[in-house]
Amino acid sequence: MDDDRRGDNRVQYTRPSSAPGRSLVEPSSEPRLRIAILAPPWIPVPPPGYGGIEFVVALLCDALVDLNHDVELFCAPGSRSRATVHPLLDEPHPESIERALFEADHVSRAFHAIETAARNGSPFDVVHDHCGYTPLAMADRIDIPLVHTVHGPFDHETKPYYAVHGHNASVVCISRAQAAMAPTPEIVDDVVYNPIDIDDWPVGWAKDDYLLWVGRFVAEKGPQRAIRVAKAVGRRLILAGVVQPRHERFFAEEIQPHIDGEQIVYVGEVGGVRKQRLFADAYAFLMPIRWPEPFGMVMVEAMAGGTPVLAFPEGAAVEVVEDGVSGFLVADEDEMAARVPDAGRLDPLQIRRSAERFAPDRIAAGYEQAYRAAALRSARA
Ligand code: UDP
Repeated sequence: MDDDRRGDNRVQYTRPSSAPGRSLVEPSSEPRLRIAILAPPWIPVPPPGYGGIEFVVALLCDALVDLNHDVELFCAPGSRSRATVHPLLDEPHPESIERALFEADHVSRAFHAIETAARNGSPFDVVHDHCGYTPLAMADRIDIPLVHTVHGPFDHETKPYYAVHGHNASVVCISRAQAAMAPTPEIVDDVVYNPIDIDDWPVGWAKDDYLLWVGRFVAEKGPQRAIRVAKAVGRRLILAGVVQPRHERFFAEEIQPHIDGEQIVYVGEVGGVRKQRLFADAYAFLMPIRWPEPFGMVMVEAMAGGTPVLAFPEGAAVEVVEDGVSGFLVADEDEMAARVPDAGRLDPLQIRRSAERFAPDRIAAGYEQAYRAAALRSARA
């Protein structure tokens, strides 16, 4: 068993100049923190359907409240949380993801509220930013330490941004694979995985016969490859997810022509209990990715439902899938098809247990340590 599976969910990521972190599962005896969580403006927390970041924020807020911290959530309207909720804009903007008009407006309102709290004598100890690119770029303009979670990959577009702004604040990655792609290692302060509360997810003991793919319909996530695998093994494939702006053509050309409502079934965007049952009842979940997946929530959601994951060994898949226990890491479509019969022999209970590493209390403890370290660094500076 490697270090990640011993119950410490703050990955033992060692910065070049520091020692590995201590175990975080014991309760902290340090003072409670006043934490501002900054969610994106696009989708409410928790999300009604698609929304990986918003799921993470929802679980993290509740877990931090359970750890007795004072948590305020700045977010899209329609959000619910055990933290104090502050919707900032008049409506969510799921059709305008990454549009600067809404991000700038949302972030500037959040910064205004955070500074007003300080002026009124109740300053936050830390701001935890999950919101695109604006807060990190501006983090050295506010007096409160900021922790930024990198939710996307470090690629040719984002690396120059992080090379310049990564030093403004504490940067947390969501997998070792993602951290390894940072423009320079010293901008990454910590690695903390994304959370899932497996107790909220039903286990599928009696599996159905279908293969499942869930996500954004983009080439790198591989729905077109999932279709080829399903056809090769002659099994039903259920596809669920969203077609985001700029990806309509990919869907129309690579996916739509194969949907026949029998072998290849498209059920649109799913959420809530329906999504959970889709995961739990699937014979296996397909993850034929060709990109450096930063984390891949859909893999742990399948695991929570006791469903094996067949994944290409890209990005965080090698950290999330326990080869031979919660699924199989396979090199290509042919090997994925060949492994389909073996997936049915894996034990749903073991698969689900493999997701216990991502329990929200462990993730929150990891972030708590990141917040305290950020506050300390800021005080020293
Ligand atoms: N999702 C959903 N409904 C859909 C498609 C996706 O709720 O129709 C959720 C999915 O369950 C997961 C998230 O959206 O929680 C996607 O996160 P992931 O890390 O897998 O991928 P990302 O899109 O963030 O790269």
